[in-house]
Amino acid sequence: MTTRRAVLKGGAAALALAGLGAAGAASSSALAGKTEWERLQRRLTGRLVLPSSGDYDLAKQLHRTMFDGIRPAGVAYCETVGDVRACLSFAQHNGVPAVPRSGGHSYGGYSTTEGLVIDVSRLNTVQVGEHATVVGPGAQLTDLVDAAGAHGVGLASGICPTVAMGGYLQGGGIGWQTRSLGLGCDSLESVQVVLADGSVVTCSEHQHQDLFWALRGGGGGNFGIVTRYERRNSTIPGMVNYTLAWDWDHVKDVVEGWQRWLPGAPREMSGRCLLGLLNAAPDATPLLITDGTFLGSPEDLDAHLDALVSAIGRAPAARDAEDLGFRDGMMSWFKCSDKTVAQCHRVGHNPEATLPRAGFQIDRSRLFKEAVPSSGVDEILAAFDAERRAGHIRFIHLFALGGAASDVPRTATAYVHRDARFSVDLATVLPPVMDNDEERAAARAWIDRAFTVTDQYSAHETYQNYIDPDLADWRQAYYAENYPRLVKAKRTYDPHGFFDFAQSIG
Ligand SMILES: Cc1cc2nc3c(=O)[nH]c(=O)nc-3n(C[C@H](O)[C@H](O)[C@H](O)COP(=O)(O)OP(=O)(O)OC[C@H]3O[C@@H](n4cnc5c(N)ncnc54)[C@H](O)[C@@H]3O)c2cc1C
Repeated sequence: MTTRRAVLKGGAAALALAGLGAAGAASSSALAGKTEWERLQRRLTGRLVLPSSGDYDLAKQLHRTMFDGIRPAGVAYCETVGDVRACLSFAQHNGVPAVPRSGGHSYGGYSTTEGLVIDVSRLNTVQVGEHATVVGPGAQLTDLVDAAGAHGVGLASGICPTVAMGGYLQGGGIGWQTRSLGLGCDSLESVQVVLADGSVVTCSEHQHQDLFWALRGGGGGNFGIVTRYERRNSTIPGMVNYTLAWDWDHVKDVVEGWQRWLPGAPREMSGRCLLGLLNAAPDATPLLITDGTFLGSPEDLDAHLDALVSAIGRAPAARDAEDLGFRDGMMSWFKCSDKTVAQCHRVGHNPEATLPRAGFQIDRSRLFKEAVPSSGVDEILAAFDAERRAGHIRFIHLFALGGAASDVPRTATAYVHRDARFSVDLATVLPPVMDNDEERAAARAWIDRAFTVTDQYSAHETYQNYIDPDLADWRQAYYAENYPRLVKAKRTYDPHGFFDFAQSIG
């Protein structure tokens, strides 16, 4: 939600730009008048959607319907860097709070506001060159994987097709290629950013190094609006997807065995251990799966899966592997194997898009440097099973990190969690028919208790792209020893704190 502090900050920045002092900032806190909005529309190549527009309800959407109650004063679909500059100038001169939005996946809903949403989803180019790929912030993972795959190029990517480069790369960028290629942000060569004062800067290892450092893990919405990324290309020789299903009776052996196996697994191997209840009714049996990818041949994968099975000490109920390569393998994870790329977008993105929006969901996550001890696994499993409630959906994932992501020192980029071995990600989801206050409270109570239990064994750090509005220790959890340097970069590049949300730096 827009805070009074945010409005005042926007106003203060405008006054500073105009060469005026802070006195009187409060009087500039009212949102702009009709004429000002009309003037903004005339300055844009793209389109400004106001509450009176027929497509306003679509324009204000984030990925999750749970943020639909937030009503922006305007949504500007930027098509050029000039559009972004015009929006920033408008927002500051009128004291209107503004946030950038690319794919709208922020867990905290931080890419919407009651002020101006500066939408850069149309800056969605993916140009694959010989050594590097230029991507716009609005390019989604499905666009990236498709274009890169068509050129035989591999780029570290996440597991959800509609997450956009805008937020994904700034928070780090985790996925099946993390252990082999590193984080998404580790492939960055340069980033073009429009700063709050309207200047356009390109940062890299050679220019504006402190901004380049901050944008690789500092998280979206903090320093400026990214309008272009340049990513170094990698080669992915082959990619095999694998899934092993297990009887729930063996859950403790599977969770412990997976953790024992991970440190010895090659970096070409990614992995996840997934515990899921698609309906948390008291008598329902949870799903138990270990899955992931292997960058190599099916024969080599077999040997590594044998090692996993041996670490677990049980036979899986089912074992599957599919040698699809990078592009088709990722499309399979996206559940888009039978879809065109246009169809593999959220409904409303383009006329052919078919993927549904998500509803009410809370995610909480911590990072781990060591395996959870046996008694801790018992506690986490008990927490997973506690307070069963028919219709609720709940998950716990253990997601493998390390490998190439750990080759980089903790302070070399703003992404500090280089020594994390895996994350434990908790999620609770309500089907639309159950989305009411009582069920939300029950879902929240379950995840908070499960988080508290899990956290006892964690490194007390959290991946900043899994942004968690309920995290009291978020500065330490997301950034640890890198936080002071991030504050310094914030003071340099956004000295008036124009870019502001509940967990913004500074
Ligand atoms: C279903 C789902 C699956 C996910 N899967 C993965 C995964 O596999 N791996 C992973 O690492 N993460 C994953 N995430 C987390 C995801 O990376 C973050 O939510 C990311 O910030 C989303 O970026 P976005 O541009 O899509 O979202 P947005 O909500 O548009 O942006 C997120 C934040 O960045 C800011 N921002 C957006 N665009 C810009 C820009 N151009 N310049 C500056 N700031 C900007 C926004 O203001 C907001 O604060 C997932 C999230 C969801 C909801």
